[in-house]
Amino acid sequence: MNRHTNAVVIGGSIAGLLASRVLADHFDTVTIFEKDRLVDNAEPRIGVPQGRHVHSIWKRGLTLMEESFPGLTSELVEGGSAEVEMTKDFAWYHRGVWKLRVPSGIRITCQTRPFLEWHIRRRVRQISNVSLVDRCTVKRFAADTGRVTGVVIQSHRAGAAEETVAADLVVDASGRGSRTPHWLEEMGYERPAMSVIDVDVGYATRFYARPPLEEHPWNALIIAPTPPHGTRLGVVFPVEGQRWIVMLGGWNGDHPPRDDDGLLEFARSLEAPDIYTFMRDAEPLTPSVGYRFRANTRRYYERMHRFPGGLIVLGDSLCSFNPIYGQGMTTSALDAMTLRECLERGAHKGDSLDAIANRFRKKVPRRLEAPWRMAAGEDMNWPGTHGDAPFGTPLMNWYFGRVHALAARDPQVLVRFVRVANMIDSPVRIFHPRVLAPVLTRSARVGRA
Ligand SMILES: Cc1cc2nc3c(=O)[nH]c(=O)nc-3n(C[C@H](O)[C@H](O)[C@H](O)COP(=O)(O)OP(=O)(O)OC[C@H]3O[C@@H](n4cnc5c(N)ncnc54)[C@H](O)[C@@H]3O)c2cc1C
Repeated sequence: MNRHTNAVVIGGSIAGLLASRVLADHFDTVTIFEKDRLVDNAEPRIGVPQGRHVHSIWKRGLTLMEESFPGLTSELVEGGSAEVEMTKDFAWYHRGVWKLRVPSGIRITCQTRPFLEWHIRRRVRQISNVSLVDRCTVKRFAADTGRVTGVVIQSHRAGAAEETVAADLVVDASGRGSRTPHWLEEMGYERPAMSVIDVDVGYATRFYARPPLEEHPWNALIIAPTPPHGTRLGVVFPVEGQRWIVMLGGWNGDHPPRDDDGLLEFARSLEAPDIYTFMRDAEPLTPSVGYRFRANTRRYYERMHRFPGGLIVLGDSLCSFNPIYGQGMTTSALDAMTLRECLERGAHKGDSLDAIANRFRKKVPRRLEAPWRMAAGEDMNWPGTHGDAPFGTPLMNWYFGRVHALAARDPQVLVRFVRVANMIDSPVRIFHPRVLAPVLTRSARVGRA
């Protein structure tokens, strides 16, 4: 195999960790620079403020993580993650109806985001040629004509000066706030085109004590709104430490308050009463914390006419979705998978690293297309959402509205939809005749339960 010398990754969160696992197979050394202090526990941290909120993982994402780190799922479960079968154990109210509860074999683990990240980080730390350097901010790229040649770092340790670290490949996994567009501009490149779909979503999250799941009628509860008038969502998920994580959220500026009475009132206004009665009777363990998410953002690096060699952008730096749809970690895993494919193909063909990076830049957007359409398109159901809808959105939203209604009474439609949502099956499978036919022929009118 064609080995390369050294790679640098900016950001030691989910996308950076998963990419590092791939790079370790192709580079002599991989160095991750992370600005936060990284401790050996599952505490939330400053650089990932979203870590305090619900983070569900779709089945495809979990499978890819397991492939990268064999045994990860069992480690999570042994550590306290709840293992649930989505279509059977979830009570899911959506668009005015409860989805059926049937077996499908789609099992995922539920845990907090810091817990998942900590487990992955532990596994990355065990890879001998990967170094994870914390409390170290990447300030800008080091560059030569037409190439990124490394990064300029600033350690947070007392008395440390700026330092240049050379790299054959730099991977930006620094998240939504990525400085790559700005750094490229400083190097004389254009900024990438960008799509912004403004949804103005607000979260409030709180933990509650949880009994063993066997003693509970459902293992997870979701009450989602019927657009365009319904804007409020509630989610109850089991997590490690015998806790429930409860999130209330709203689209288009309809954000939950944070005080106890306000939260309960918000829960009472959801389209079904179950989260309200749950919260009223459950024992809270923490105060609530908030989060405001303004917009889905997607950067089109693949459209740039000039792009430097030696650089890859992935994870939220490339595309950040409305978190309500829970796609970010799974797409980060898909980005890492794409990186693996490009590196393996390049090794096989003897390609230069720049050719490999260029192939990644062109290939990864194709994998983002379906989740982007799903999130940006779905958000267009609310009139306060602003931005350019993906092509065909009204038709897709009409179709999915009928799919959701049928998922309340047709197990095949439900399972096919959940497999596509979990990114197990290609999105085209939702147009399989077994779904298309009832969508077009059967009454799929949404009735309020
Ligand atoms: C409220 C909320 C809820 C979410 N819920 C879900 C969910 O249910 N399911 C799901 O799959 N996804 C969810 N997401 C998305 C998910 O958090 C991200 O997609 C996922 O973490 C991958 O992001 P990332 O690794 O690219 O970036 P991030 O997780 O944002 O991490 C970026 C990292 O880079 C570091 N960094 C930044 N700049 C520098 C620098 N200059 N130098 C060094 N280090 C730097 C940061 O400290 C951080 O560690 C949610 C997001 C939000 C906002």
